[in-house]
Amino acid sequence: MQQWHALESAVVIDQQSTHAINGLSTAEAERRLIQYGPNELLERGAKSIWWIVWEQLSATMVLILIIAAAISAILGDLTDTIVILAIVLLNAILGFTQEYRAEQTMAALKKLAVPTVKVRRDGRVLELAARDLVPGDIVLLEVGNLVPADGRIIESVNIRIQESALTGESEPVDKVAHALAATELSIGDRRNMAYMGTVMAYGRGQMVVTATGMRTELGSIAAMLQTLARESTPLQRRLDQLGRTLALIALVIVGIIFVAGILRGEELQRMFLTAVSMAVAAVPEGLPAVVTIALALGAQRMLVRHALIRKLAAVETLGSVTVICSDKTGTLTENRMTVTVLDLVGQRIAMADLQPEARSSLSSSIDQRTLALILAGGALCNDALLVSDVQGGNNQPSIIGDPTEGALVMAAARLGLSKAALERAFPRIAELPFDSVRKRMTTVHRVEHAVILEQPSAYASLLEEQTWLVGETPYIAFTKGAVDSLLEVTGALWRDGHIEVLTGQTREQIVETNNQLALSGMRVLGVAFRPVDTPVDTTAPIQLERDLIFIGMFGMIDPARAEVKDAVAICQRAGIRPLMITGDHPLTALAIAHELGISQDQQVLTGSELDRLSDQELKILVERVPVYARVSPEHKLRIVQALQTNGQIVAMTGDGVNDAPALKKADIGVAMGITGTDVTKEAADMVLQDDNFATIVAAVAEGRVIFDNIRKFIRFLMSTNAGELWVMLIAPLLGMPLPLLPLQILWVNLVTDGLPALALSAEPPEQHAMRRPPHPPNEHIFARGLGRSILLGGIVMALIVLGVGYSYWWLGLAQWQTMIFLTITLTQMANVLAIRSERDSLFRIGLLSNKPLLGAVMLTVALQLLLIYTPALQGLFNTMALSLTDLLIGIATSSLLFWFVELEKWLGRRRNGSQSGAIGTLPR
Ligand code: ADP
Ligand code: MG
Repeated sequence: MQQWHALESAVVIDQQSTHAINGLSTAEAERRLIQYGPNELLERGAKSIWWIVWEQLSATMVLILIIAAAISAILGDLTDTIVILAIVLLNAILGFTQEYRAEQTMAALKKLAVPTVKVRRDGRVLELAARDLVPGDIVLLEVGNLVPADGRIIESVNIRIQESALTGESEPVDKVAHALAATELSIGDRRNMAYMGTVMAYGRGQMVVTATGMRTELGSIAAMLQTLARESTPLQRRLDQLGRTLALIALVIVGIIFVAGILRGEELQRMFLTAVSMAVAAVPEGLPAVVTIALALGAQRMLVRHALIRKLAAVETLGSVTVICSDKTGTLTENRMTVTVLDLVGQRIAMADLQPEARSSLSSSIDQRTLALILAGGALCNDALLVSDVQGGNNQPSIIGDPTEGALVMAAARLGLSKAALERAFPRIAELPFDSVRKRMTTVHRVEHAVILEQPSAYASLLEEQTWLVGETPYIAFTKGAVDSLLEVTGALWRDGHIEVLTGQTREQIVETNNQLALSGMRVLGVAFRPVDTPVDTTAPIQLERDLIFIGMFGMIDPARAEVKDAVAICQRAGIRPLMITGDHPLTALAIAHELGISQDQQVLTGSELDRLSDQELKILVERVPVYARVSPEHKLRIVQALQTNGQIVAMTGDGVNDAPALKKADIGVAMGITGTDVTKEAADMVLQDDNFATIVAAVAEGRVIFDNIRKFIRFLMSTNAGELWVMLIAPLLGMPLPLLPLQILWVNLVTDGLPALALSAEPPEQHAMRRPPHPPNEHIFARGLGRSILLGGIVMALIVLGVGYSYWWLGLAQWQTMIFLTITLTQMANVLAIRSERDSLFRIGLLSNKPLLGAVMLTVALQLLLIYTPALQGLFNTMALSLTDLLIGIATSSLLFWFVELEKWLGRRRNGSQSGAIGTLPR
């Protein structure tokens, strides 16, 4: 084991044959990627193809069938054996393809969940997938990153890393960049190393990668990260339970049929096979598996709409969401910030009126130095970068980093103050990063006498003669942030080139200006500074943010996303309340909330108001207030809890490290794919690849469709199984012989449980899916009439089949059994077509709106006819050719089930018609 921590960082960089600023070359990185392999941990969770095959073949029911086939063979009935085995094989192939598809989908989703990292290569900073990292890469570490590999820290600006994944220690550890003296140190004490899978809790810096993939510490303990959780979902567990109960009932019934048959003198072997086939047919053992497939395919459909599902249970819960709590910036708005207004306490300047040369008509009345100062402060107290996008062909510079900060860099650049030049004149020596609790950020700079002028700019020239600014003081600190938060640490005002005491009156004036700008939906950021005499003690930087001198504020617009307004309306129609939760100013928040229709009144709760509320009071208010402003992450947690005690099912978005607890607590934690940190993504159930609120709504809609469709195939499978059981149970009571032979039972079961049921999961959304209130997630599977429909459907089906069969048998017609065999298949087809919608008639939704299902129905009917009319198959399945009249009778009687279900839906619509007004009165 290399003792990297005992070496100076320069030595480590040297030994890794890399370069601190340029990083590796692309070619070298490619070579190392081949040498060391991708930076990922070996998968333990994924199922191999053989495992899926084995699972299919080792299912209990399949084993029973194989035993039955063996017994048939021993008793000398080889045809039965072959047909049973063929059916087993067909079943296994069908099961395998479904399962394999689900597995592939999950694997694809998992690949997408891999984080990206910022790396230096070829002298540039680029972003790449964590799996492409190689030893020697220089990685940029930021708050909220998961450390992507093991590395030696070469720059630490207050880095603190939470290493519980590795050491179990939950308190973050301070990290340094210098060499450590002791060589024998435990992992937890190697304070200049960062390890894969640990979390950047604070600060920023860089490391040089020393180990990747399975050679990392995490790899050596072979823990798994980034797994798509595979535990079964609540619905699956409930179905499992239900399946077991139903299996028991079915087995009892099969037992009765078996005993009754023997007593009536049926042949033992035939009765045995019949019982086995019935058991296979009646037990809905495949249900949980079909649900998994439906959920996995649902997750895939959500991905098409830019929602990446990380936990399969989320697909199911999404449909029940009653409240969506959303960030404002970037989710409801575009996060394309543009500075439009500058305010220098008493002087409002439109950004558009300013020119680099400063010779506009304004120049006489406004102090140009103050302007230069606020622009410089905004650009220096700032981590965003402006890069000119040469490859893209356009000369539009693009922003790397936070859009709020980018807007400030852009504003300064437009007036001739490039950030790079400013940083040469004022190199940064210390900083206090932004966090969403303090809502401000501070940087300290050494005052160098360097050239800032790169292009003609009055502001640049002004800043080069810095004595007006700091006198002889060697350092200057800039703080920017929310104006209210800035005023807490501000004591003076910069006006017309000198420092004034900040009077109560001026304070009020600043607050008033802030409100005015916020009222129009602008995000407002104040800037202050302070000359500093001594080099800053970075271990106690809190001392920095006091006695600041206020300069002015930037007002920036961030347009609301166009598609969100519709998404909000859809939510409200669907009985879902959208809430806005933001760190921004209450008036900014309200302005945007009004624009989007989230709020109609002036109700807003701020973080400090929230602090004064008891849980009980919050519980009541949270049902009324749609907008929450100036909140910190811990407030989010309280809001989720309050909503949940009211029985709401909450989806909550988040992007910062501190949002993770709220996301975990929410029923659906939603992380931002673009601006979100790795930590929030880890905690989330779903990641929005486009950070867009509308995507959450799309996912909810998709969730409702999936849940509806799961109900549909439960209804289909159970009502047809019930029908088959009734037929087998009642026929002997009517004095008839066995109505269906074992192979016929197996066939009906294979055909019906297979294709049409699967095709139901492709059913398009019901028209009212997003026009009704959400269903409670813990409602019983048979809720809302499903149980009754299953029972009734099964009985009607049995009545039809037995009615036809009994009449033929009573009349002494030889084809009576073939008629039963035909009608039992045709009634199932009638059933599946009718239950495509729980509410609307098939004629309304259109026969063609689910083509896979139509195809499955036609294929099934064709196969059934093949069985009846092909001489070779007639022998196997004991069928005989039917006359046209017989066929027509079969079709006509079977369609009765269709009309019955349509009638049931019609009655349901009539009953609900009187209630549909209730949907209109939902909270708007
Ligand atoms: P949001 O919920 O809109 O994302 P944030 O928590 O990001 O809110 O920001 C809250 C407030 O903090 C903003 O209104 C702004 O005044 C201030 N702020 C945001 N970003 C920065 C930053 N990079 N530096 C300083 N202050 C910031
Ligand atoms: Mg933000």
